[in-house]
Amino acid sequence: MILGLLREPGDETRVALLPELVKELVVAKVEVLTENSAGEKAFASDADYEAAGAKLASREAVFERAEVLLQIQPPNDSDLSLIKKTQIWISVFNPLWETVLVDTFLKKGLTTFSLDSIPRSTRAQAMDVLSSMATVAGYKAVLEAALRLPTFFPMFMTAAGTIRPANVLILGAGVAGLQAIASARRLGAQVQVFDVRSAVKEEVMSLGGKFVEVEGAVEDKAAGGYAVEQTEEFKRKQQEAIDQHAAKANVVICTAQIPGRKAPVLIHKATVDNMKPGSLIIDLAASTGGNCELTKNNESVVHKGVTIIGQSNYPAQMPVDASRMFGKNVFNFLKLIIGEEGTLNLNFDDDIVKGTCITHQGEVLNERVKSIIEKKNGSPAIKETEIKTGTKTKK
Ligand code: NAD
Repeated sequence: MILGLLREPGDETRVALLPELVKELVVAKVEVLTENSAGEKAFASDADYEAAGAKLASREAVFERAEVLLQIQPPNDSDLSLIKKTQIWISVFNPLWETVLVDTFLKKGLTTFSLDSIPRSTRAQAMDVLSSMATVAGYKAVLEAALRLPTFFPMFMTAAGTIRPANVLILGAGVAGLQAIASARRLGAQVQVFDVRSAVKEEVMSLGGKFVEVEGAVEDKAAGGYAVEQTEEFKRKQQEAIDQHAAKANVVICTAQIPGRKAPVLIHKATVDNMKPGSLIIDLAASTGGNCELTKNNESVVHKGVTIIGQSNYPAQMPVDASRMFGKNVFNFLKLIIGEEGTLNLNFDDDIVKGTCITHQGEVLNERVKSIIEKKNGSPAIKETEIKTGTKTKK
């Protein structure tokens, strides 16, 4: 198999594989073709890649020769014009949300994998890029808040008086939220947390956060551990409780998301109106609309002295460890599609391979994406009778 490792576009600083893992792929008889300067912004030089056994090439040459193309960011129009039907595109493109891009892949008949669709199962944990990147985001969000806040995070008792600890409100206690709780507690802040899943209460408490309970949350076991849409009655009660806590908070970190939907709006303009001037909202749900009504993706806005930071790519601010974690996850995933002697082996009988594959030969393979695309287009996005399995066709 020839794996093409691409240089990331725009402001992205990460790289999908660092040289240390390229070395392991080469041992597994995979030929790694690395685009010139692919790792530059993550402090991995071309010489490091060459020493690991990769061959360097221009972007055009990587597109020309590779069987598998690997890039963290989704393809742009120019990439789309270069990808061939015989190639496999692997990246992270939020297919539950970016349905127009999925439609484009379908129309072009491309085989695409989105690593954010890796099932949340025990076997797939070592491949879970969402958890890795959410860990970076939760940590970085707290550090950015601590740097920008005009007050201390910890309590100080000094000769100049007592400084009260910062109040941090965290909305959503998934992977990013839990990391934010841990990081804010390490810096000495008092932390209050909202979530609609009661299962996270103990985890929040074990990290030293206070879980604010709102009765009547809807939970659905079939949602695979994810949150689901809430009733209007619950939303009203939750809103009142959040408003009260936001008015006392110095920092609000928003992480609440529902896969495939717009992020729930939990901080309305009126809530921000009542927050303390100088306080901060860091919205990690910005790319799907944000938890704050005033959030703008990848922008900072100030409203009545409250700064609202819509940040959807904190991992790009920590490229070395973010790339290291991402790369390890990708490497573990690639092992599933590398056969003997380093050949490409797509086995759609494997639930992780099938679940992560978004489009293949004009069909949508991921079940959740398939149902969203079918609803959107009003027609089946997959043929019922045939699913290709490796080189054989299984009926
Ligand atoms: P996410 O990014 O989808 O959402 C973040 C958090 O926001 C979730 O905890 C969610 O419950 C919460 N939320 C959604 N709507 C809300 C609302 N209206 N008010 C308050 N909170 C709201 O979550 P995630 O970090 O991707 O984790 C989702 C699930 O996946 C969790 O159950 C987690 O434990 C599980 N998980 C499993 C694995 C694995 O087994 N491999 C790995 C990581 C996470």
